[in-house]
Amino acid sequence: MNRATSLRSQWLKLSILIITITYLIFSSLLIYATSVYLKDQEYRSVSRSLSDVSTLYENQPFNSITERDIYTSLYDNQQMGLYTLSGEEVYRWPIRTQLNIDTDFEANVNPVIETISIDGDDFLVGTRMLQSDYWHGYVSVVHPLNEYNTIIRMMLFIATIIGFLSITFTSIISYFFSIQMVKPIGRFTGQLKKIENQGFAERLDLKTNIIETDYMIESFNNMMGALEESYNQQKQFVEDASHELRTPLQIIQGHLQLINRWGRNSPEVLDESLGISIEELKRINKLVEELLLLTKNEGTDYMQIESINLNDEIMSRIESLDKVHPDYTFDAKLHKGKIMYPINNYHFEQMLIIFLDNAIKFDTEHKHITVASELNSDGSIEISITDSGIGIPQAEIEQVFNRFYRVDKSRSRDQGGNGLGLSIAQKIVELYRGKVWITSVEGNSTTVHIKFPKPKN
Ligand code: ATP
Ligand code: MG
Repeated sequence: MNRATSLRSQWLKLSILIITITYLIFSSLLIYATSVYLKDQEYRSVSRSLSDVSTLYENQPFNSITERDIYTSLYDNQQMGLYTLSGEEVYRWPIRTQLNIDTDFEANVNPVIETISIDGDDFLVGTRMLQSDYWHGYVSVVHPLNEYNTIIRMMLFIATIIGFLSITFTSIISYFFSIQMVKPIGRFTGQLKKIENQGFAERLDLKTNIIETDYMIESFNNMMGALEESYNQQKQFVEDASHELRTPLQIIQGHLQLINRWGRNSPEVLDESLGISIEELKRINKLVEELLLLTKNEGTDYMQIESINLNDEIMSRIESLDKVHPDYTFDAKLHKGKIMYPINNYHFEQMLIIFLDNAIKFDTEHKHITVASELNSDGSIEISITDSGIGIPQAEIEQVFNRFYRVDKSRSRDQGGNGLGLSIAQKIVELYRGKVWITSVEGNSTTVHIKFPKPKN
């Protein structure tokens, strides 16, 4: 069963429990130690008196012992008794005492001291056998324990009072402290509720002056920031994607309406509209495929990665482009010798296609494209693709890697571009911990640089 309790009551219960247990242990130990010490003192005084009185009766005839002798042998409040061997009382001091002690005399010369209780009062009774020429029998000393009992009772009383007071004080202080302690959590929860209602652009505007909760608030705000950013990116992406899809769909719809109205009787309209619709469908197809590539969040862990010769891959790409675009000049300035690198074949090819496609698309005048490769001494690899085309304005070089970004939107669109190629290529390069950047002279040339680090073994 999951029973929810408040942090405050938990704290309160725990602190009261701890103080009670600590106090009980502490005061019990204190009282116990005092009682042991006091009892020991009482035993000593009984034993001393017993020995003094014994000496008195063992060394002098009974009649020569004065009350004064007895008085000086005993402590205040002590009594004594003298007995025959059969246990019959012969003398007691003080004579008027009413206290009758039933003593079990043992035939023992060693003194015996025991605690007895009479009418609710405790006494220490010490007895000893006397075997001298002057007396054969027993002597006893009775020592009241009321002083000892009073001290212990007093200590118990004081301990109870102090215990009660300290537990009460602790509870009160704990109560107020617990209020202070959970206050920031209460405020935190209140603000969270606000955020829940107003959306996650809100932040916690709160300072508790408690390190732990302040840190929690800071982490929370950072997390909300990251969430908001990622949400906005996703939103932007979906908006851009649907916007890109809408144009070809509207064109197709327009041409289908044209065919519906005129196409049955006019083969020219039919031909033209069908041609355009097919082109637009191809564009949608490309867009959807590119979108899928971009959103696929694959790592290299489950991919087939083999060491391939990058120069071979570059050459086979150039050769096939050469056939399709005989009007272009492709220059290959490749590193002499193989460049073996562990990369997924399809990824590398796709990346090359994206950059070469751009080079061809944006260099329609000079039509001169150079691909270079270099294996650096530190094991890293550099590849560059240079065209002598329109170039990219300096201010926009950073942005061309953003999704759907095109310098000249209508021109790129006419060439079938969605503005996704560079984002995809960048994603691939970064998958292999590489870097890609562009240098360009507007109206003159553009170079795409790719650098892959030394492969991990
Ligand atoms: P897609 O690649 O999706 O078919 P795209 O080629 O327009 O469309 P990207 O490859 O991402 O998109 O390129 C983004 C933009 O960067 C291009 O529209 C173009 O404006 C600019 N750009 C890219 N490469 C070059 C280049 N070699 N020369 C001049 N501009 C370029
Ligand atoms: Mg492109």
